[in-house]
Amino acid sequence: MPEHEEPRTRQFCPYCDEEMLAPDGAGCQTCGITVFYCPRCRSPVPRDLKKCPECGAEIKGEAA
Ligand SMILES: [Zn+2]
Ligand SMILES: [Zn+2]
Repeated sequence: MPEHEEPRTRQFCPYCDEEMLAPDGAGCQTCGITVFYCPRCRSPVPRDLKKCPECGAEIKGEAA
């Protein structure tokens, strides 16, 4: 099957700037980190942070 590159929103790791291939909120394979996406501005937010550095929205990570 032909792989056509669509101009999707590309997400980049906030740590290493490598492109993250996961479609939604998975993470960077290079760093081995999990990244959430801000529900408000959709910026990638490192898992450690509880607030979006872009807009200040609270990030609800995994509860456990
Ligand atoms: Zn990375
Ligand atoms: Zn945000």
